[in-house]
Amino acid sequence: MPDDGRIVGGTRRPDDRENIALRPQYLSDIIGQDRVRENLKIIIEAAKARQEPADHILFYGPPGLGKTSLAHVVANEMGSNIRITAGPSIERAGDLAAILTHMKQNDILFIDEVHRLGRAVEEVLYPAMEDFALDIVIGKGPAAKNVRLKLPRFTVIGATTRLALLSGPLRDRFGARFRLDFYDPQAMEFIIRRAARMLKVEIDDDGTSEIARRARGTPRVALRLLRRVRDFSQVRADGVITVDVAMDALALMEIDQLGLDDVDRRILTAIIEKFSGGPVGLDTIAASISEDSSTIMDVYEPYLLQLGFLERTPRGRMATRHAYEHVGIPYETDQNNHQPTLF
Ligand code: ADP
Repeated sequence: MPDDGRIVGGTRRPDDRENIALRPQYLSDIIGQDRVRENLKIIIEAAKARQEPADHILFYGPPGLGKTSLAHVVANEMGSNIRITAGPSIERAGDLAAILTHMKQNDILFIDEVHRLGRAVEEVLYPAMEDFALDIVIGKGPAAKNVRLKLPRFTVIGATTRLALLSGPLRDRFGARFRLDFYDPQAMEFIIRRAARMLKVEIDDDGTSEIARRARGTPRVALRLLRRVRDFSQVRADGVITVDVAMDALALMEIDQLGLDDVDRRILTAIIEKFSGGPVGLDTIAASISEDSSTIMDVYEPYLLQLGFLERTPRGRMATRHAYEHVGIPYETDQNNHQPTLF
């Protein structure tokens, strides 16, 4: 997914390289996502006992919640090699065929943004996932012959921010599917404390909770905020992150108490002021604030929905009372123009 350029965005940015060292390596390092962790534990133990590769696994949910990390954890726990690719990088069926012919028994193929695989590429993936077979055509015209190559048994782990864009047949080929949820504040505090220890950053409990509260339930955002606040604390304070240091640093980044930044607030005020609170279509909102609609859908909207600031209706997005309160616009007056929603 492209860099959304935001400090609070969940998508990967070049300065996230340091995160790789902070990535959980084993199931025991995974904080939060208890349901997913328990299920993975069973899948892994059972596969190891049978001496077989694990079932194909799909992780879906907003960016930055740990889909890639979990794929690495599965590989480490299985003792398997992992090969990493992404939907948009596999352009032609031949590219995938080349990857598949290099897979070895029990290897893991991680496909990020799996919803962006082209149709022709998907057609090659189906028999590979289902029958561990690669169908190739040799020759051209009437003399062309279909040949089926046997592949070693391997595991595909797919990740997507958009389950709805995944074709039905592809979705069905993943035996295990897990939705990743935003992390609760306690889990976020754990993640920040662990990262601070590894980065040798001094931070007190209140400083930790302050950053945790504003990290949108997203580990990648938490780590990014921690690094930015660390820089601030070195330059403007004595290098220790206290609640005051965290608050000053976050205020300078224009990140409010709930972790919303300027773009989130522009989305909310646009819906309220320009479209009387909605319902209004996503593309219209995106155009009105000059943002990309798929970025709004993947990155901005999930957290606003989670906070209960937005409601998704068949006729478009609506701002809720909480949204009005948060941006400081009186709810009642605007609501006089509203049609009741009957869904
Ligand atoms: P995604 O693939 O969903 O976009 P990543 O797996 O790249 O997310 O996670 C982003 C960063 O957040 C990782 O570099 C990792 O350090 C951290 N992270 C993610 N999930 C967890 C977790 N459960 N516990 C600790 N750190 C995590």
